[in-house]
Amino acid sequence: MSLFRSILLMKRICMRRFFPRSKQWQCGCCLLFLIPVLVVASMDTCSSWPYSIYSSRQYCSAAEHSNRNKNPLLDNSGLPRFEEIRAEHVVPGLKSILSDVENEFEKLETKLSDPDLQLSWSVVSDPLERIGFPLEYSWSVVNHLNGVKNHEELRNAYQEIQPLVVKVATKIAQSRPVYNAMKKLKTSEDPLDGPQNRILTSSLLAARHSGVDLDGAQQERFNQIILQLAKLTTDFNNNVLDATKAFHLDLTDPVDVEGLPDSLKQLMAASAAKDQMFDAEKGPWRVTLDGPCIDPFMKHSRNRTLREAVYRAYITRASNGSLDNSGVIEDIRMLRSEQSKILGYSNYAEVSLKSKMAEKPENVWKLIYSLKDKSKNAAEREHKQLEDFASANGHEGTLQQWDLAFWSERQREHLFSFNDEDLRPYFPLPVVLDGLFNLTSFLFGIQIKPSEKDVQVWCDDVRFFDVLNGNGRHIASFFLDPYTRPAEKRGGAWMDQCLGRSDFLKTKPVAHLVCNQTPPQKDKPSLMTLREVETLFHEFGHGLQHMLTTVPYASAAGITNVEWDAVELPSQFMENWLYDDNTMKKVSQHHHNGDTLPSDLFEKVKQARKFRAGSFMMRQLQFSALDMELHTSSDHWLEVKNRIADEYSLTALPPLKEDRFPCSFMHIFGGGYAAGYYSYKWAEVLAADAFSAFEEAGLSNDENLSKVGRRFRDTILSLGGGTHPTEVFNKFRGRDPKPDALLKLYGLT
Ligand code: ZN
Repeated sequence: MSLFRSILLMKRICMRRFFPRSKQWQCGCCLLFLIPVLVVASMDTCSSWPYSIYSSRQYCSAAEHSNRNKNPLLDNSGLPRFEEIRAEHVVPGLKSILSDVENEFEKLETKLSDPDLQLSWSVVSDPLERIGFPLEYSWSVVNHLNGVKNHEELRNAYQEIQPLVVKVATKIAQSRPVYNAMKKLKTSEDPLDGPQNRILTSSLLAARHSGVDLDGAQQERFNQIILQLAKLTTDFNNNVLDATKAFHLDLTDPVDVEGLPDSLKQLMAASAAKDQMFDAEKGPWRVTLDGPCIDPFMKHSRNRTLREAVYRAYITRASNGSLDNSGVIEDIRMLRSEQSKILGYSNYAEVSLKSKMAEKPENVWKLIYSLKDKSKNAAEREHKQLEDFASANGHEGTLQQWDLAFWSERQREHLFSFNDEDLRPYFPLPVVLDGLFNLTSFLFGIQIKPSEKDVQVWCDDVRFFDVLNGNGRHIASFFLDPYTRPAEKRGGAWMDQCLGRSDFLKTKPVAHLVCNQTPPQKDKPSLMTLREVETLFHEFGHGLQHMLTTVPYASAAGITNVEWDAVELPSQFMENWLYDDNTMKKVSQHHHNGDTLPSDLFEKVKQARKFRAGSFMMRQLQFSALDMELHTSSDHWLEVKNRIADEYSLTALPPLKEDRFPCSFMHIFGGGYAAGYYSYKWAEVLAADAFSAFEEAGLSNDENLSKVGRRFRDTILSLGGGTHPTEVFNKFRGRDPKPDALLKLYGLT
């Protein structure tokens, strides 16, 4: 079942490298869309690996045993044999699995097509889980190794097999006999429990949205649209990437790079160089529109004319000549609208929201307006302060768009005179881990300890931990891969499912927690920046939801089947703990003198969190509103963009008429965020509101905290995708979510 649904539902895989909170130059969020839709979908399928002594071994014959010995990728009887799996195992292993899955699936389709068959959960859903399992297991291993142990042979093998995996998964996802059987099961007399009901509901909805129950000409047209959209989306992304590449400015006068950080000068000199030889001090230096270059350049370049040129190039990317996305946008919108009408909705926003916690466009607008009301004045005030600061420090005339990043960075330096390096010595990884484990053990009544089992890992730095219940019973485990390995490991941080809980397959949850921090040096432990500590807390939050699930079905356990706009709740919730005094005392300890983070420094850290919060909020709300309106209105995109820009711009900073931002809005035209950009704010509201229940209980009142903690565990962390997130939230908070706590967090009340 999870395989059936996985292809239809994109599950968020959090990649924190793409989540720059204060970035003015990107959409400021995880660019999930960089991963092809179907790969993401198939990555989500790793929801049911066997981990218990029973596992799927009961299904395998002697011949299969011998196969497993030859190809460790085929051995799904326990945890993956990471040390033995090689690139050459991938293609033959997956081909053999795919062929078995197809055969078995066809048999199941034939069985389910029998009109006299008595339908029940064990006739329809269990077999799907069993059939999909070997593919989910092995494909997950390959995906995981591709992210953490990447090399050319593995990459080639991955690329060779991926289309075949997608083909089979698509075929399963669009199976008419399975869809019909589920429909019948949903309305049958056979009593289903809550999670079973919800699994069927969301599976049926996803299938319906993929056009499974359309007929004849309608279905033909629907499938045509899917193909056209796939091509247009690729065109859109290619145009943005090509337009980004097409622009560069070469600087030769050292005056033009004055004030730029050394790391940026290195980067710019390297990209200007024709060969490996370059000199970061002598130049030349190349400015490009790539994030790692334009972001620090706009913050630090003292040359206003250059900033303006770069800014204008950035906001008009892919909006003219052969790389113009203007027509592509209109085609995508038109086709999405037509698709929605075929499915019986009035616009694409309705389709998108039907499978999200927000459910309806009006609920999203309610959130946007309630946050906007409070943020607009704050943003105006922040802008006035920035203007005053800039003119007191030598800026002449009105602040323009290309001055904002530069002057706010100066203001930040002035207000909060600390940087990442000042904090780093206080956060050695072992101390941070201890603090994090203590906090979560206390709140949720669990124990976390290094596993004594002999487990294969893909790198010596990787550690394996067990999670025990209050009574000492083993309930889950996780791998932690903390350090950066640029040559073979993807950047960023993420939580991934290694094994999901499934009572039918007798598996317990196992998570992958992957970060990218500095490894220990000869005489120093791994010292983390505050940002890295926050990231670890974030991923651990995802991990907790995965590991503490009590849902017995793989298709709804942990983060599986949790709505897109609700899945970041536990992760963002965990981040909030880092700004609590007691927690900070537990996770900080100077690696030389053992001091915790000094309170004056911690105060500054807390204040810095609120810096220009109104402006940042307004920007995110503007993107959310633009996205919603582009997927509701039939006006030309330029008209929509102008309307929204007028509404969300500050009085002193009118929008530029030539701004063509939608032409490079990859989240919504090149990825999976169409009518979903608001999700970032939505989840933040949930997380802050949930955290405020702990604040109300008293952050120094251990007895109350542990009570609220258990309630959080028994609701948010345990009910997973088996209960609607609104109901889950209500069970925890006793009411619907409110934005007040988020506004307070950022000082916007
Ligand atoms: Zn996340």
